[in-house]
Amino acid sequence: MDIRQQGRPVTQVPMLDLKRQHARIKASLDAAIAEVMDSCKFINGPQVKLFTSRLAEYAGAKHAIGTANGTDALQIALMSLNLNPGDEVIVPAFTYVASAEVIALLHLVPVMVDVDYDSFNTTAANIERAITRKTRAIIPVHLFGQSCPMEGIIDIAREHHLHIIEDNAQSIGTRYTFSDGTVKQTGTMGTFGCTSFFPTKNLGCMGDGGAIITDDDNMAARAQMIASHGQSSKYHHEIIGCNSRLDTLQAAILSVKLDMLDTYIYSRQRAAATYDAGLRDVPGIAIPQRMKYSTHVFHQYTIKVASGKRDGLQQYLSDNGIQSMVYYPCPLQRQQAFRGIARYGDNLDVSECLCREVLSIPMHPELTADEQQYVIDKIKEYASQHL
Ligand SMILES: *Cc1c(COP(=O)(O)O)cnc(C)c1O
Repeated sequence: MDIRQQGRPVTQVPMLDLKRQHARIKASLDAAIAEVMDSCKFINGPQVKLFTSRLAEYAGAKHAIGTANGTDALQIALMSLNLNPGDEVIVPAFTYVASAEVIALLHLVPVMVDVDYDSFNTTAANIERAITRKTRAIIPVHLFGQSCPMEGIIDIAREHHLHIIEDNAQSIGTRYTFSDGTVKQTGTMGTFGCTSFFPTKNLGCMGDGGAIITDDDNMAARAQMIASHGQSSKYHHEIIGCNSRLDTLQAAILSVKLDMLDTYIYSRQRAAATYDAGLRDVPGIAIPQRMKYSTHVFHQYTIKVASGKRDGLQQYLSDNGIQSMVYYPCPLQRQQAFRGIARYGDNLDVSECLCREVLSIPMHPELTADEQQYVIDKIKEYASQHL
């Protein structure tokens, strides 16, 4: 939206603008949707295989399996590991509920560990402290667009014979650099990588969708089977599974948008650099830190606001037509649903603290320089009066 329509400030800057995004690729999207509609192959149409194989190729992984959503992807990945009730799975306390919910749903024990204040992500040390004889897996979450420090996490997983399921819902396309210079995409470093195509994600469809990525042939076959009623061949069910598929329509849409993903990421990175420059020296505001081992695809641009003024700033932005969001307002250890089910790491103070300080501001590939300047100006205005 043009901020200065007819010389008047128009005061609406949304978190993201899918209308603008889709307008630019409307002809391709229309054609992809029409093709599916004409074929009427709504379930497991050829577009599903085409998209998942292209996704695997994009990630540099051997297999990609479509699922109905990102939460299902995590659940199916966990089911594929063949764990026993009571086994423990380590997960950060500062994340979306889905990362931990699926653990509890399968009668496993979520063990919540703290995150790092600068990166928002969990660390090898935090994970290591939480390992017991019952630990079987780790779900590192690559939050906001940046990779977890995977080298240390992989070392610990090896040492303790633990599986890694990466929650890559927010960081598709992120690259992690190991100390020997090897570069890998997030989602390809564990037994499984799980992602979501929820419309607001960096690669979003027009409804729900998700995928599991793996290099392991056996695990791929198992996950595929579980996602399809545990079926080995039609009407022969080897194991208890579920019904979770990526829609043909969504796969067709995703193929169009996958072609745009690197362009979208680049636009997000450029917008982040503009915010960095405008907000770096604003007192009371901390801009997101870049970790040297990871690229950042800026699913969110998340600032930290000091002195209990986060909610005040959010209100001020809202009064000026600027949308902002708190991801996440309440750490998992304080969620009622996990009482009596989860085990908690020794210290979750950082997660607790981040929930009070974080604020994600408008970030999407179509954000204009004018809109960003308006957001920066309003944050500065608030800071000069209150911070
Ligand atoms: C979005 C998201 C999920 C779940 O994805 P859905 O497609 O909504 O089920 C899981 N984990 C994280 C970190 C997410 O951001």
